[in-house]
Amino acid sequence: ANILNSSSVSKVRVVLRVRPFLPREISDVQPCVSVIDGHHDRDDSEVAVHLKDPLSCRKECYQLDALFHGRDDDDEENVKQIFDREVNPLIQAIFNGFNATVLAFGATGSGKTFTMQGTDELPGLMPLAMSTILSLCEKTASRAEVSYYEVYLDRCWDLLEVKANEVAIWEDKDGQVHLKGLSSIPVNSMPEFHEAYSCGVQRRKVAHTGLNDVSSRSHGVLVISIISERGVTGKINLIDLAGNEDNRRTGNEGLRLQESAKINHSLFALSNVVYALNNNLPRVPYRESKLTRILQDSLGGTSRALMVACLNPGEYQESLRTVSLAARSRHI
Ligand code: ADP
Ligand code: MG
Repeated sequence: ANILNSSSVSKVRVVLRVRPFLPREISDVQPCVSVIDGHHDRDDSEVAVHLKDPLSCRKECYQLDALFHGRDDDDEENVKQIFDREVNPLIQAIFNGFNATVLAFGATGSGKTFTMQGTDELPGLMPLAMSTILSLCEKTASRAEVSYYEVYLDRCWDLLEVKANEVAIWEDKDGQVHLKGLSSIPVNSMPEFHEAYSCGVQRRKVAHTGLNDVSSRSHGVLVISIISERGVTGKINLIDLAGNEDNRRTGNEGLRLQESAKINHSLFALSNVVYALNNNLPRVPYRESKLTRILQDSLGGTSRALMVACLNPGEYQESLRTVSLAARSRHI
């Protein structure tokens, strides 16, 4: 029954990735995340995760669609698993004319960038998606184009321009949202992709503020579009979302407070949209934030989407924020 459902209405899958402890992290920190139900291995149904407060020993339990628990010795396997099971089906879909979105969210240090971008040795979901797309392009006589932009304080900046340019968010008379003048460059090989992407990442660090690295406080959106003889076939948005921090804990003020208010607002709006989609609500509140407006054509409708909640296993409060947002987006 589930399978029938998911093909008629596209649900947004919400999965969890728990990163391993890092060598520099003290070895006697107790992990606060544990899985109490592993039956996802067999039938891919939901998993339950326990978060345990190391201070009060209080436990919270949440249901999600799948869990990928990283261990220091198998992380390559882990990202490949997420790719094969969760992202590859979306890539097949974009070659069949659909749009797709993959969003990584979680606190700073939880592994979002590691998951999406990865490292030279361990490529993340973005380069894995790009190389799969390039080989499918060859088979289907299509080509790929890439855009990369950042959403910071509700404004949108093109990261593939020599100097990061502001892009206007523009709505046409049919209610379709466009990013006016966003650059899109052809990519024919992985070296070309790495070149474009890493220039964008560099720009992201100094983009519009001149000095500050705002990359953990802005949403970074990579878009890969497929173009065939008939025009654009489909596209996938791969998004490294801004850190989901609790500004009461970090004592933010001034610009930081403004940033974190925007971030919280946009993450909350995103989770409202996903909740509405997953629960077939008649009205999906795309208009509540810039990010959800921009993503409207790739979230819901016939589009396929995936949310990856990233956790640092030693951070209880942060993990709780992330998992409760994830579970509330999903639930049903
Ligand atoms: P975020 O982007 O959420 O702020 P990062 O992706 O930068 O977090 O990860 C924080 C640190 O943890 C980095 O040093 C990164 O290399 C490391 N890390 C994150 N995820 C993993 C993982 N699955 N395996 C090994 N190291 C990881
Ligand atoms: Mg990051």
